[in-house]
Amino acid sequence: MVRSKILGAAAAGLALGAGAAQAAPVASAADYVTVDGESKRVGSGATYRFEVQVQRSIDIRRKRFAAEVEGILVDDRSWTRSGAVAFKRVDGGGNTRVILAKPRQVQRLCYLQTRRYSCRIGEKVVVNLRRWQRGVPHWPDSRRNYRRMLVNHEMGHRIGHGDRNCPERGTKAPVMQQQSIGLQGCRANWWPTSSELRATRSLNKSSAATAAAAASFLE
Ligand SMILES: [Zn+2]
Repeated sequence: MVRSKILGAAAAGLALGAGAAQAAPVASAADYVTVDGESKRVGSGATYRFEVQVQRSIDIRRKRFAAEVEGILVDDRSWTRSGAVAFKRVDGGGNTRVILAKPRQVQRLCYLQTRRYSCRIGEKVVVNLRRWQRGVPHWPDSRRNYRRMLVNHEMGHRIGHGDRNCPERGTKAPVMQQQSIGLQGCRANWWPTSSELRATRSLNKSSAATAAAAASFLE
């Protein structure tokens, strides 16, 4: 119920956003700082060259944030394990942006009606500063693992996955479950499951993936 309400709000927001793009006070590129630094290409298959950007007014150690995001995505327990995607951090000319933004800015970027969520829209993976720093109250594990879940989940949308539900109480949550909203009786999990890795290998042929790539997601 909560879930459909939230998604409904997002859909409404997106529909509105599409027509109101010029009117919406979305920050310009100058409002973000791209963090210097590149990584090796890790994985094989479709390559996501991601830039890490931080909203300029955020007082945080940018390099540390970028290193943490990079560390999550190039970890061999992340999506590259599927053998179907590769990640490379770049500081220019990327096809994907991981953006750390304040709640109010996330709301603008993602056409949300609240400031609570992180989201993925187009080539942008938007990390909500509040969530990055505080997580969510119901999260049972470390902050580090919450961040892994957040980044893997939103990047999962970027590579074409939709959201998943908890398959069965007591089992490990798919990383594509909206665990920031609720665990649904599943155990917290921050790496793609074997089922999700399998699904990654057939993403390019799937029309659901095309639909997921076009849609906007929040949690
Ligand atoms: Zn999602």
